[in-house]
Amino acid sequence: MSVTLTALPLAVGGPLYAREMHLGRRPGRVMLVAPLLCLLAAGTGCGKSVVVGTVGHAGSQSVGTNMTTVIASASSVPPPAHTTQRAAVPAATPTAPSSGAPPRMAPGSGAPLPTRPAIVQSPIPFGAKRKAEMVNYALRHYGLDTYRLIEPHVIVIHYTETPDFQSTFNTFAPDVPDSELHELPNTCAHFVIDTDGTIHQLVPLGIMCRHTVGLNWTAIGVEHVGYSDAEVLDRPRQMNASLHLVRWLRCRFHIPVADVIGHNESLSSPYHHENVPALRTQTHSDFNHADMQVYRARLRASGHC
Ligand SMILES: [Zn+2]
Repeated sequence: MSVTLTALPLAVGGPLYAREMHLGRRPGRVMLVAPLLCLLAAGTGCGKSVVVGTVGHAGSQSVGTNMTTVIASASSVPPPAHTTQRAAVPAATPTAPSSGAPPRMAPGSGAPLPTRPAIVQSPIPFGAKRKAEMVNYALRHYGLDTYRLIEPHVIVIHYTETPDFQSTFNTFAPDVPDSELHELPNTCAHFVIDTDGTIHQLVPLGIMCRHTVGLNWTAIGVEHVGYSDAEVLDRPRQMNASLHLVRWLRCRFHIPVADVIGHNESLSSPYHHENVPALRTQTHSDFNHADMQVYRARLRASGHC
């Protein structure tokens, strides 16, 4: 599809981003807005493509330190599942299975630790060819010689800009170059949450997915079927399933609530790293900071780890 680039200076940065800018980076003005369907805008996940013009993208040095630390400590084996999978179900997460086991409590919180939510396995093809392409992508963009997602530090929240799960699956499944960046492998997300709260897992957690430029090396991608932040935030079943899944994931991988971010917040993550200069300020419009403040408040309220 054609892409319209519009010079549209928008004031961003400042207070909206300041809270989580651990490195003191500050996005400049939004210089280009390229309307693209989220899932068709492959290579970067979803939401409309946004390129933020920055003055001195200084974060990469410190981010490099993060990556070095992670790589030095990482094993080739994905982190083991947290031992709390059989704990009781939080009251606000109706999709969780009931085990009958007494609840384990989060230290100091008085809240039960999260169980693994009900997850429908809907795997997309991710064979040797796609894995090899993922290695090449990781080498180009991150300098990492692996397709494996090792000890993820970030969870990125997206919406799909598609009407249902099946169309989302059909977008991710074929391994074709994406329409936005024209790279292989095709984009994907680890999870897609349907409007009725059904959680689908498309890719194992030990494999990188292309859903967020700059963060795919360390981020789990969670897509929500829908067309806007507000639409997803206002759907109770979809939202409860999302909070349950993300709480379970972040507790399993010891990810702070602050590192559960919206796609639109990607540039302010301390883990953002991108070796391709043209992509260092690329992000999408889905799940902006204001809406993620709502999401994170709900996530905190759902219980500690
Ligand atoms: Zn996205």
